[in-house]
Amino acid sequence: MEPKAYIFDIQGLSVHDGPGCRTLVFMQGCTLNCNWCSNPEGINHSPILLYNILKCRLDGNCVKDCNFGAIEIKNEQLLINRNFCNDCFEHSCLNNCYTKALSVSAKEMTVGELMKTINRDRQFWGLDGGITLSGGEPLLQIDFAEELLKQCYDSYIHTAIETCGNLPWKHFERVMPFLDWIFYDLKNPDTLLHKKKTGSGNELILSNAAKLSKEFSGRLIIRVPVIPGFNNSDEILEKYINFFRENNISEVNLLPLHHLGREKYKLLEREDTMDIDNIPTQNEMKQVSEAFINSGIKSYTGSYTPF
Ligand code: SF4
Ligand code: SF4
Repeated sequence: MEPKAYIFDIQGLSVHDGPGCRTLVFMQGCTLNCNWCSNPEGINHSPILLYNILKCRLDGNCVKDCNFGAIEIKNEQLLINRNFCNDCFEHSCLNNCYTKALSVSAKEMTVGELMKTINRDRQFWGLDGGITLSGGEPLLQIDFAEELLKQCYDSYIHTAIETCGNLPWKHFERVMPFLDWIFYDLKNPDTLLHKKKTGSGNELILSNAAKLSKEFSGRLIIRVPVIPGFNNSDEILEKYINFFRENNISEVNLLPLHHLGREKYKLLEREDTMDIDNIPTQNEMKQVSEAFINSGIKSYTGSYTPF
């Protein structure tokens, strides 16, 4: 049977996530839960209900349509019981929500359906473009990811993934033959700090990165989201650099923390725990970059990475 996956966004004509002009595919579900995530709607493993209060007319249609009694209107406010909704596959509450105040984060697609979109976009990529699988964690829905990457590889399409690395090694083994580039997030080399802000330790992430540095024949780019007060101290930078050296990793892509996903937390009715003023200054970015460069590691910031 043809593999299917939950896809929460497809962006054509992207120029920041690999060489040339690309089609970006965002796959639902992640194995981490970073508190700065800019795609929080992609964390849940199944599609999730989004609620836009600005569009809601409080007509109560969704209350009647939900078979689980998960919505009520009280004191002119719509209240959603997320314990039910996060596991719901019916989404019958959308049926008569004419203003689209309610929507669902992702839709299910087959590999064939997605390949049609990719082939439609292909004529606009130019010579260097291709596809980048992002998320969420694109290798979580591994059967789909493997088949899609294989079909792209067979069609001479350049392939890349953006991964958090927190997966069994066998997932990488299945896709490596069909991948040109891997963008690999290393959010903090200290496992306790990593766990505090992402919900998971980093042992598996470090071990997979080490294996990829030896076994992956394409381009491996470690990405570091620079978060002041979390991963830019001298002590943490030294741990990063030791890891890069031990594994002969020669380049890093630094991504300054941003808060562009902030509005999405409202749609999920989830608290955004990040301090909006916490953005790395130019000086802080320079200090992190220089620490890598002074250790012989090429450092690129944001979209200045030469693709
Ligand atoms: S997502 Fe499911 S459980 Fe939640 S309100 Fe809609 S129909 Fe009810
Ligand atoms: S059906 Fe839509 S517009 Fe009506 S109350 Fe529910 S969310 Fe609001």
